[in-house]
Amino acid sequence: MAELEPAISARGVCKDFGGFEVLRDIDLDVATGTTTCILGPSGSGKSTFLRCLNWLEEPSAGDILIQGKPIGRTGLGRDAKRMARNELAAARTSIAMVFQHFALWPHLTVLGNVAEAPVHVLGRPRHEVEAEGRAILARVGLAEKADAYPHTLSGGQKQRVAISRALAMKPKVILFDEPTSALDPEMVGEVLAVIRGLAQDGLTMVVVTHEMAFARKVADTIVFMDAGRVREVATPHDFFANPQSERTKRFIARS
Ligand code: ADP
Ligand code: MG
Repeated sequence: MAELEPAISARGVCKDFGGFEVLRDIDLDVATGTTTCILGPSGSGKSTFLRCLNWLEEPSAGDILIQGKPIGRTGLGRDAKRMARNELAAARTSIAMVFQHFALWPHLTVLGNVAEAPVHVLGRPRHEVEAEGRAILARVGLAEKADAYPHTLSGGQKQRVAISRALAMKPKVILFDEPTSALDPEMVGEVLAVIRGLAQDGLTMVVVTHEMAFARKVADTIVFMDAGRVREVATPHDFFANPQSERTKRFIARS
């Protein structure tokens, strides 16, 4: 049945950059309606894995399935790749990504940023998308900023716009790559609160983060990566109370 199918399945995902193995044979399922937090030291391959999930980075081997359907296929020749490109573009609309450095369009207003992809990628009517966009901005506490430009916003506000922009696509999954790492400490809380609210609303999310307290409270599943491998997949309780490996113990102790 469709709802039992994981939102995302990674199967045997490998990635190398010029012979340097960054991801080694990663298997992972993300159940629909759950929040998965990926933890791990810097350089362990977290960002690369996240980018493989929406095929921003093509794995060297393995499969990524979105609700059971491959998002892309590895090892295609050039012609097959061209044919697969439309499929990929369609699949990507169901996965949104929020980056550490926001990546807002500076020349568009807040509402313009939120409406851009639904209008230009999905071809939806602007008035409809803008009405939804205003509701989303209200949900993240930015109703009054709809007509402001990004450079007038704080980091925390910018990241909440980036999250609104992701929500506007009504994606099946949202990927977050260290969404609070670029923020001043006093703004981390407001962004984590928004993400926590989305988790409570049952969105499917994968969040790479160094915020241990957040992961502990909000994650349904913790994934610990080290040196390009998934070392541990556990509930937050088991991960923090009963880590399985010395490597995990050391990581938790240092954080
Ligand atoms: P993390 O997000 O866990 O810090 P990354 O996925 O960014 O880790 O990086 C994992 C490893 O892959 C690092 O050693 C990094 O230098 C390397 N790497 C990442 N992207 C590239 C790239 N485009 N070319 C070469 N090496 C890369
Ligand atoms: Mg990273």
